[in-house]
Amino acid sequence: MRGEKGGSASVHLLAENPEIICRVCQFYKPGKEVLECGAFKILKFFVESGRLSVEEIEEAAKVVEKTSSEEV
Ligand code: SF4
Repeated sequence: MRGEKGGSASVHLLAENPEIICRVCQFYKPGKEVLECGAFKILKFFVESGRLSVEEIEEAAKVVEKTSSEEV
């Protein structure tokens, strides 16, 4: 249920695909267990409470990636 805000499906999607959040994190190692940091938990809380969608996180991650690549 991408695009929808909140709900167990969105939270499950994040649990199964932590890279949705973590892909822009310098500490992220694909294939390794993700220990949820405070930022991850805060984003998960917003998704859980319906204030943020997974799609909005993905959009933000794209902007962060683009901005980061321009800074190098
Ligand atoms: S849980 Fe937090 S610290 Fe760990 S990889 Fe994801 S964003 Fe980075």
